[in-house]
Amino acid sequence: MTGQRPPYPTNYYTRLRKESNFGCAACGVPFPVAIHHIEGYEENIVAPLEELILLCKRDHELADDDKIAKEILYGLKKKPFNVDRASHNFSIPQSKQMVAHIGNNTFIETPFPIVINKEVIVGIKREKGQILVSTKFYDKNDKLHLELIDNVWSATTDAFDVRYSERTKQADVWVAIKMNDQEPYLDIKIIGGELHIEGNFYRNGNLYTINKDGVFHIRRNLLTMTGCTLDRCTYGIVIDGEQTIIGAARI
Ligand SMILES: [Zn+2]
Repeated sequence: MTGQRPPYPTNYYTRLRKESNFGCAACGVPFPVAIHHIEGYEENIVAPLEELILLCKRDHELADDDKIAKEILYGLKKKPFNVDRASHNFSIPQSKQMVAHIGNNTFIETPFPIVINKEVIVGIKREKGQILVSTKFYDKNDKLHLELIDNVWSATTDAFDVRYSERTKQADVWVAIKMNDQEPYLDIKIIGGELHIEGNFYRNGNLYTINKDGVFHIRRNLLTMTGCTLDRCTYGIVIDGEQTIIGAARI
């Protein structure tokens, strides 16, 4: 997102995900991953797919510091970690419906739970059972710091922290993304095949909080949503200017 580089063609994401079997090519961690430019990043150019590889935050930083040689990266591209050894489990089988507990609400097969000003602030989709998360982290002043599209992040800052763990006491999978010195955070747990999502998000200077009590619009207290079930709604909560729609099939 830094510089003027045009966006990646959308099929890049799909093809890189497929190539690395939904994870970091070096270690297999499925979420979140970034597109790394093996031959170096150039602001005005979209590199060809042959020079791009999906890496997790840690391995992306190592590669940026030249601590993973180019030859090794090209080797990992041909033989990514997850292709033979996939042991990660950021997935819900496609045969099971996707249930997300967001605040004290239940969203069933609703891929865009929170949309603010036509931007997906919380998105959860599946591809071959693998969970694909989208989010955007703005700060209080409406500056965009982190954008995650279908598990692939781009960021204008390193000031965010990612934790991915599996088989903990609290959850089968636990993903937490946090801005180090700001309030935005996203916390996703998979427990018993269902998603549990909490977080804080800013947009236009307003703070939106999702906790186990509901979804709140803090500044004007526009919305408190608790105890609701949305079933196959495409869009969950859509906030656009003064208008709030809950449970839309199309917007
Ligand atoms: Zn990795």
